[in-house]
Amino acid sequence: MIQKILIANRGEIALRAIRACKELGIHTVAVYSNADKDLKHLKFADETVCVGPASPSESYLNVPSILSAAEVTNVTAIYPGYGFLAEDSNFAKQCKESGFKFIGPSSEIIKIMGDKITAKTFAEEAGIETVPGYKDPLPEDPNEIKIIANNVGYPLMIKATAGGGGRGMRIVNSENDLLHSIEITSHEAKNAFGNNTIYFEKFISNPRHIEIQIVADGKGNVIHLGTRDCSLQRKHQKIIEEAPANDINQENLSITLDACIKLCKDINYEGVGTLEFLYENENFYFIEMNTRIQVEHPVSEMITGFDIVKAQIKIALGIPITLDQNKISIRGHAIECRINAENPRTFAPNPGLINKMHPPGGFGIRFDSHIYSGYEVPPYYDSLLAKIITMANSRSACIKRMKSALDEFFVEGIDTNHSLHQDLMNDKVFIENKHTINYLENEFLKDYD
Ligand code: ADP
Repeated sequence: MIQKILIANRGEIALRAIRACKELGIHTVAVYSNADKDLKHLKFADETVCVGPASPSESYLNVPSILSAAEVTNVTAIYPGYGFLAEDSNFAKQCKESGFKFIGPSSEIIKIMGDKITAKTFAEEAGIETVPGYKDPLPEDPNEIKIIANNVGYPLMIKATAGGGGRGMRIVNSENDLLHSIEITSHEAKNAFGNNTIYFEKFISNPRHIEIQIVADGKGNVIHLGTRDCSLQRKHQKIIEEAPANDINQENLSITLDACIKLCKDINYEGVGTLEFLYENENFYFIEMNTRIQVEHPVSEMITGFDIVKAQIKIALGIPITLDQNKISIRGHAIECRINAENPRTFAPNPGLINKMHPPGGFGIRFDSHIYSGYEVPPYYDSLLAKIITMANSRSACIKRMKSALDEFFVEGIDTNHSLHQDLMNDKVFIENKHTINYLENEFLKDYD
């Protein structure tokens, strides 16, 4: 029985996990780096342990340090959150070997599904349509590589199988750029992810990014919480997410949902997970699976009333999912705006002291954040400061509520992308739900000043 959980993360997701543990009556241990001693959630955890200096590699990615914190505090399980060690199969393995339950899938499943090539193979076997491409090892001969690329067709994407966070992918428009782009992408992938394996994918020119939230207990029970639309992106990174995805071909969605459930049953998936798709001309093309909680999970929680983080912990406790799929109903619409500490024009990170801030509130408004007046945002980590989530009966009412939430919200002392969100909420293309993954960068930001 898990009675004490170590939270191997920081910021808003660490706070989110502590809230879930409190409701479940589970004690918590928060770990932190030297640069994070003023984080809000440390005040709410039952115990705290410093795991190292500011640099992530010496603290939040420092496996021996985290495992020894788990040992001295005598926890039974470790909650990884997102980022850092959340999709590190080796960490999951070491947790198990050290006698701690890793809250998530087994290391074997993380390895299979965290690798984009094997994930695509398993998805195809379950009947999920994937982005067409070439994922076998590339031959040595450059001419053979060119033939393969021609068969995939230009423009194509070179992707690192271990890629993540919008990194490890490159568009190639013609054969002239092919070999050089392969070299750079695999070199970058080796440096960033320790794995230089790359593959080709057809470049889908103007899709939406649609994803499906899965919850599975590793005992054969798998449910989904519907879709999210995460098409508003910059540098392949999500900025606004919403649920459910509107204007979707319901027949194709239903086929895709069934196939996702089948995939998770086939691999006896345990934990929560997200299957990501590019959606174009009413077709879903699988790109990858994330074997962890997503930043944008609150929008699915708001429309289903289902607490995804609590579910993660209960599944790790061995409690089966008893909720039937047909008992999950989608009500209304939810939108999440990611407030980042960055310049709204240049997007340069802007850490520093928050002199004053005021969170939005009221009916249908949720504010998931670790910031407070007097908090100093350290320069070492992700720039995410807060997630403002609104929920209403319809998408248009939800946008209106988000506008009002954004009007109430302020942060003084550092730059944030707050005004970008305000402008997007007034944007005709966004309001009409006509945007694709290219809209923000290629159109909206082009004449943004
Ligand atoms: P990461 O793991 O880094 O998040 P993904 O494979 O999930 O990478 O892709 C992130 C984003 O990159 C997608 O939402 C989409 O905007 C873009 N993308 C990925 N693959 C393709 C593709 N084949 N064609 C067009 N855009 C793509």
